[in-house]
Amino acid sequence: MSAPGAVRVLVALGSNLGDRRANLEAALARLSAAPAFRLVSVSPWIESAAEGGPAGQPDYLNGCLEGETTLGPHELLALLQDIEAGLGRRRELEPRHGARTLDLDLLFYGEETIEAERLTVPHPRLEERLFVLEPLCALQPERLLPRSRKTARERLQELRSRSGQR
Ligand code: ATP
Ligand code: CA
Ligand code: CA
Repeated sequence: MSAPGAVRVLVALGSNLGDRRANLEAALARLSAAPAFRLVSVSPWIESAAEGGPAGQPDYLNGCLEGETTLGPHELLALLQDIEAGLGRRRELEPRHGARTLDLDLLFYGEETIEAERLTVPHPRLEERLFVLEPLCALQPERLLPRSRKTARERLQELRSRSGQR
């Protein structure tokens, strides 16, 4: 049952350092343990080569989760960043898009659009990323994306055909 005032959210997960699967699963466990957060569903994990950032990084394991929370968007971002740090992420020591034990990005917070200094929602780069669209499609293929105005499924097909994948 939903808590009164709870908002549906989608979060992207990624890891390319250490035991990637254990990192993603620990993130799920920690989010589920937070009193203001309920885990609703989780996509399969998918593996892909790192995009951008320093060359020669290990491959990523990525996924997506749907949850429900009574936290505000900034409070939720703080929780996600606490979990990243708890699993060994040291953002201040990393190059941009460098290897990390855990990355948790807020893709959607209900239907809200947020353009704050430290938080942009929907996540501004999600529509360009196969490694986000693929797990997102496992959960919400009909989700409408604000930039392309396509569904997640249509956009995934478009990016796949552009990159020569099926
Ligand atoms: P990208 O955002 O391109 O996926 P990244 O995940 O590697 O890059 P980070 O170093 O993890 O970037 O985060 C940089 C900053 O992005 C964070 O400190 C946070 O304030 C900000 N940020 C803005 N919007 C979001 C969002 N929707 N989800 C998570 N962080 C966000
Ligand atoms: Ca990211
Ligand atoms: Ca991030």
